Amino acid sequence: MTDTILTFCVSAFVLAVPLILYLRSLKRREARAREAAEKGKLYSEGPKAQHPHIDTTYCIGCQTCTTVCPEGDVLAMLGGKAVIVNGHKCIGHSLCAEACPVGAITMVTASPSMGTDMPYLTPEYETSIQNLFIVGELGGLALIKNAVNQGRDCIDTVTNRVSAMGGAGSAGDVYDVLIVGAGPAGISASLRAIESKLHYITVEQDEIGGTVAKYPRQKLVMTSPVQFPMYGKFTKMQLSKEELVAFWRQVLQRVDFNVRTGEKMERISRGQDGTFTIVTSKHEYRARAVVLALGRAGTPRKLGVKGEELPKVMYRLIEADHYINKRILVVGGGDSAIEAAMGLGHQSGNHVTLSYRKESFSRIKERNAMRIEECMRTGKVKVVFNSNPVEFRQESVILDVNGQLQEIPNDFVWIFAGGTPPNDFLKKIGVEFGMRDMTLEASLEARQAKLAVAQLAEA
Ligand SMILES: Cc1cc2nc3c(=O)[nH]c(=O)nc-3n(C[C@H](O)[C@H](O)[C@H](O)COP(=O)(O)OP(=O)(O)OC[C@H]3O[C@@H](n4cnc5c(N)ncnc54)[C@H](O)[C@@H]3O)c2cc1C
Repeated sequence: MTDTILTFCVSAFVLAVPLILYLRSLKRREARAREAAEKGKLYSEGPKAQHPHIDTTYCIGCQTCTTVCPEGDVLAMLGGKAVIVNGHKCIGHSLCAEACPVGAITMVTASPSMGTDMPYLTPEYETSIQNLFIVGELGGLALIKNAVNQGRDCIDTVTNRVSAMGGAGSAGDVYDVLIVGAGPAGISASLRAIESKLHYITVEQDEIGGTVAKYPRQKLVMTSPVQFPMYGKFTKMQLSKEELVAFWRQVLQRVDFNVRTGEKMERISRGQDGTFTIVTSKHEYRARAVVLALGRAGTPRKLGVKGEELPKVMYRLIEADHYINKRILVVGGGDSAIEAAMGLGHQSGNHVTLSYRKESFSRIKERNAMRIEECMRTGKVKVVFNSNPVEFRQESVILDVNGQLQEIPNDFVWIFAGGTPPNDFLKKIGVEFGMRDMTLEASLEARQAKLAVAQLAEA
């Protein structure tokens, strides 16, 4: 009898301990989520562009979304429901929405009040100007997979419009569509245009590849499975920048890719008959539709600091391994600045200082946060928070650190202060700004689709 009671007590203890620990960790996580939400992170540092929208009436609190998010802590559980706690960290992977078993999550763009610096777009990526489309990062959604999906889907809309206007190639020397930009969005749009037998042309101010071609050498690119026109499903999740660019070249070599590189689009106007005239640095074209796949990198933002015109001051780093035994300053606090500083810091003999105007990093990927901490600990990168460069000289730079001027020896400077997106150009040609809040309709659509699939599976 005593043995039985003892066995029972031991079993109850063995079962109860993990349960108590689990419930405590849940409570702790929930407290952290509440603290983050109360701090106002959701709004002050909330979603700037794409982010998940959670329909709490459907959320069953299964935590699948919080587990799958590659950025770590965009979402958390609060009161048994998923909530956004670090909206600014969302870069649009959409894995939470894909994984949610009840369709309670949809990816949406920010509400009009938050997204006033974004062009207004319809669900077909059409601007306020008929047959003028914007795809890829310029429309507000980052990531290669979003750019590829939008480029492809937008051309399907153009194809339908062209069919209604008498069919592809029926307008003489007027192109069915002119695509501007040959980054992921423009390449995908061009391939779909070939597939759909449209009379099209693509103009690119630089070389093909867009932002990807300018990533640092050997940068690890994270992608998600995506349907690539003329190729099929591309399933690699991680690959180097060089592998991705080589893959594009291989696809493009197989097809009749009508691209003019080194040609900058400068002006667009729309005639009375709806035909667009596009003036580039080299030619003038006419087209029934225009797809702008310009990205948001635009022109690198300058600091306006004395000496910024010196050739040693740069805004893009491609080959970190070209620089050894150098004294380097990197300016900025985003992922690009941190990745550049770490890349340079790992080269032999370099002394790398990272200057950031704020008191801590707040908008970087968790992976980078951990790696930069390690670099700071091992002395590969010296981070100076609360600092701003005030002058660049031939052999040094002057930093303002908490109001104190410091001169540090220096050979090269890289500035990562973001880019100036082509908003002024868009406004000039009449594109309206302020995004549509897709929350309700998108959420309803996704839920209906998932319920339909579930019902089919049951039947
Ligand atoms: C450092 C860094 C790392 C990143 N890492 C990842 C990652 O790992 N995974 C991921 O999915 N995403 C990543 N991204 C985001 C991804 O690169 C972008 O979301 C994607 O490249 C956007 O594609 P896009 O075609 O819209 O624009 P872009 O790639 O920017 O291409 C736009 C093209 O338009 C051209 N263009 C612009 N203006 C004109 C003009 N007037 N005339 C003619 N051509 C013009 C440009 O030259 C450029 O080639 C990263 C971004 C950066 C900056």
